[in-house]
Amino acid sequence: MLQDKDRIFQNLYGDAGWDLKSARARGDWGNTRDFIAKGKDFLVEEVLNSGLRGRGGAGFSTGRKWSFMPKLDNKPHYLVINADESEPGTCKDRDIIRHEPHKLIEGALLAGVAIQAHVGYIYIRGEYTREAERLQAAINEAYQEGLLGKNAAGSEWDFDLYLQRGAGAYICGEETALLESMEGKKGQPRLKPPFPAIIGLYGCPTIINNVESIAVVPTILRRGASWFAGLGVPDATGTKIFSISGHVNKPCNVEEELGIPLKELIETHAGGVRGGWDNLLAIIPGGSSVPLLPKHICETVKMDFESLRSVKSGLGTAAVIVMDKSTDIIRAIARLSKFYMHESCGQCSPCREGTGWMWRLLTRIAEGRARIADIDKLLDISYQVEGHTICALGDAAAWPVQGLIRHFRDVMVTRIKQSAA
Ligand code: SF4
Repeated sequence: MLQDKDRIFQNLYGDAGWDLKSARARGDWGNTRDFIAKGKDFLVEEVLNSGLRGRGGAGFSTGRKWSFMPKLDNKPHYLVINADESEPGTCKDRDIIRHEPHKLIEGALLAGVAIQAHVGYIYIRGEYTREAERLQAAINEAYQEGLLGKNAAGSEWDFDLYLQRGAGAYICGEETALLESMEGKKGQPRLKPPFPAIIGLYGCPTIINNVESIAVVPTILRRGASWFAGLGVPDATGTKIFSISGHVNKPCNVEEELGIPLKELIETHAGGVRGGWDNLLAIIPGGSSVPLLPKHICETVKMDFESLRSVKSGLGTAAVIVMDKSTDIIRAIARLSKFYMHESCGQCSPCREGTGWMWRLLTRIAEGRARIADIDKLLDISYQVEGHTICALGDAAAWPVQGLIRHFRDVMVTRIKQSAA
């Protein structure tokens, strides 16, 4: 279990102030200028050596992503921070913005130097009204104190940070749709390549990172890459904020080491499953887009990228959605299907048609108005969607359906048979 002294987010629950004075008392903005003085290569190397992997869902190495920035070009570079937190079950960035906004702002300056960007944007989802107000107030404080703007934090590096509000579309959390939205266009994903590091915002090299990925950078630099790399497990280092929701006694956000057993995470921090562990039916371990896991797998699985991949699920955003035995598991996944159908931007046929088709079939199965053969048809449709679309929303819609059929086919068959009888 993570010790308090190793928690990066000391004020995750807002027990102390969010403002600059309180943040400084926690060590933020301490020696920012000294790290910048060591140069961009130092910053990239240190983050690379820490093993930090993106906290927004894909889990790509943050340092490696930064290293993709072109070295010799005459275009402006941009940093874009993705605060469009919209994955059902995920609410970690919200609390960072509410209670630790200066970690994010300081991290933005350091990341800006690392990728040689003089301008950064934070794209925040439209529904986060209060969070946007809080973040803007913190940005204003940073400007007043000379931590942003010309000669930011006395570093001789000019860095401006802007907050841009989205309009509440889930797909704008996809990095290229986010760029389209920022440019004033319809939020639809772009074909990749070219990747944003080469052609990103306004056609210029751009790095897009999640809020949590950027907010942990100052502490990694302060405490050293080896400290961060010593936490967690070898391919998933450091700490992570887990959002635990659903049928637990105390839903919460909690920072823990990656690799913590799922059962320990729930029992230690969320007060256990409602009605006790034996009342558990299934858990979605990484936000609504990853396949669910039945109880017998939840007993032993660990919360890191490789362990969850080995049981055909994923860490995603580490949003743990717990479902006890009162859950109608077919209806629950049908509800997620409806969400993805609604949020599909409609550019690619497999996603546009497939998400609706999966939702309609699942609804029929949930209501018992289907044939046994429809289960395999549903699985087949999910395979036709998976991997055949421009962006990952297609996969996100297919995986929960595949997880349901993999682990709860018998429940689906029983539902159909009982209804027929
Ligand atoms: Fe749009 Fe879906 Fe295609 Fe993504 S996969 S680009 S959301 S239609």
